[in-house]
Amino acid sequence: MQIRKSFRFEAAHVLPSHPGKCARMHGHSYRLDVTISGPLHKDGPARGMVEDFDALEALVRAEAIDTLDHRTLNDVTENPTAEEIVLWIWQHLEPALPGLDELVLWETPDACAVIRRGDIATLSSRA
Ligand SMILES: [Zn+2]
Repeated sequence: MQIRKSFRFEAAHVLPSHPGKCARMHGHSYRLDVTISGPLHKDGPARGMVEDFDALEALVRAEAIDTLDHRTLNDVTENPTAEEIVLWIWQHLEPALPGLDELVLWETPDACAVIRRGDIATLSSRA
């Protein structure tokens, strides 16, 4: 089964290679949807759950949101497109969250980048 939790953060960025307005410093109210999958816990405090939402929230905040929120994203990655940021988030979450299945990073209410578990191998082979 999958569970999904959404997060919000505010950040600024500049896209240095962009020919248009994105080359100017500006900000977005980002939304991040985190999906994990796995079996339901059979006992313990997370019985009947894939994961406790509170535990998932604490982990995502500690590993990603706390670093990105109210940050100039160029300090985190040199060319912070939605695609590059969602990849950075995947690389920071996945070691701590083995059930990570999909991340969706909304840069605006109608534009997002999506990364899924199966995408990682193909991404690293691109020049
Ligand atoms: Zn932008």
